[in-house]
Order: sequence, then C-alpha cells, then structure tokens
Amino acid sequence: MDTSYSKVKEYCEEKGVTLVAISKTKTPEELLAVYNQGQRIFGENKVQELAGKRESPVLASKEIEWHLVGHLQSNKVKLIVPFVSLIHAIDSWKLLKEVNKEAHKANRLVNVLLQIHIAREETKFGLSYEEAEKILGNTELSLLANVRILGLMGIASLTEDMEQVRNEFRELKRFFDQFQGTSSRLQTLSMGMSGDYEIAIEEGSTMVRIGSAIFGERNYNR
Ligand SMILES: *Cc1c(COP(=O)(O)O)cnc(C)c1O
Repeated sequence: MDTSYSKVKEYCEEKGVTLVAISKTKTPEELLAVYNQGQRIFGENKVQELAGKRESPVLASKEIEWHLVGHLQSNKVKLIVPFVSLIHAIDSWKLLKEVNKEAHKANRLVNVLLQIHIAREETKFGLSYEEAEKILGNTELSLLANVRILGLMGIASLTEDMEQVRNEFRELKRFFDQFQGTSSRLQTLSMGMSGDYEIAIEEGSTMVRIGSAIFGERNYNR
C-alpha cells in the first residue's frame, strides 16, 4: 500500500491543520484510493476538471468536500457555486460579487478565501495586501449575504531559498493576524504545498494544499 498519503495525513493531524488533497491531473480511481484511506477534502485547480470528477461514476456517491484552489473566471462561477465547499482564489471584488450573485441564485452561503500574491515571481493572480485590505474593509461587504470570507490563501515563491519562502508565509500570517478580532474574523490561512508545507505550518498555516506528496509527480507543473 502507498504510505505517502498516511504520512502526510498523520503529520497534518498532529499539527492540527486541515489537509486538502490536490488531485489535479489524477483519475477518479486515484482519488478513490485516497478517499478509501480516509481523505474527504479534495481540491482541483480547474473548474471543468473539478465538475467532471465530481460527477464521475466512482466518486458521485461519495461524501467529498470539493475545493477550488486555482484561478476562477467570472463566467465559470455558476458551474461550481451550487456545490463547492471552499473557493481559495478570490482575487478581485468583482469576482467576489459574482460568486455572491450566483450563490444567491443557488440559495447557498459560499465560503471563500482571498488569494494574496506573496511570491516574488510575476504572476497575474492574487491581490496585493493593499487590495485585500480594501476588500476586507469595504462597507458593501456586509451586503454580500451569500458569500463569507473565511480567510486568506497564498502561494510562496518557487525557489530553493527556503528563507525567502518562510518570510513570505510569515508576512501573510502577520497580515492575517491583523484581521483576527476585527469584524472580518478570518479563521482559515491556506498556505503550504508539497515542497513547503512544513515551513508553512511552522509559520501558522491552518490549511495545506498537497498534491504530489500524496499522489506522486504530475506530468505538468503548477
Ligand atoms: C497544484 C497546486 C497545489 C499542490 O501542489 P503540489 O506541489 O503538488 O503539492 C497547491 N495549490 C495550488 C493552488 C495548486 O494549483
């Protein structure tokens, strides 16, 4: 039996952090094998892949909490809002409003995280700290009755320099802490992947997103 899942699982349990098994590129059968070892939370980075696996015959009847961890386009919001448990990568006020609109139609309260751009690399995705602060302080936020911002998500730089990675996580945690005890009441800090989850947990992560350390290498990178 493959023990990589149980190792990661035990580690997360010991540290009290939530484990999201990132199953992108993996088959429904591969997910089922991990499900059968006790995993209930699975995350995908693409809407279509997520919806497809959820409806696949081997997984359709299973009690899985599905998370979307990748970039979400406005026109795909309606495809996942009816069932998704957590959306990790809200990166604009406009997208937040769209999720609220579709959640209202679906008569749901949808939990989301704001993705903060913490890496040194140039990517299109993620909010700056200033932008996140604006969203969290927006007086219209309370009008979005069908979304709830549970916390923040960040992806550290892809680098060998683990001090850099640690600093990025630390800064995100510091920002997160500023909103503890305010009306925003953030509770979930999603940070840490296969290559850096131990550091993320040391720096205060409450939720890790782990793919290759559970399922093995993918044939493409993030
Ligand atoms: C792929 C992915 C992960 C998991 O990556 P691994 O390095 O395989 O653990 C985590 N978060 C996001 C947003 C991803 O796209």
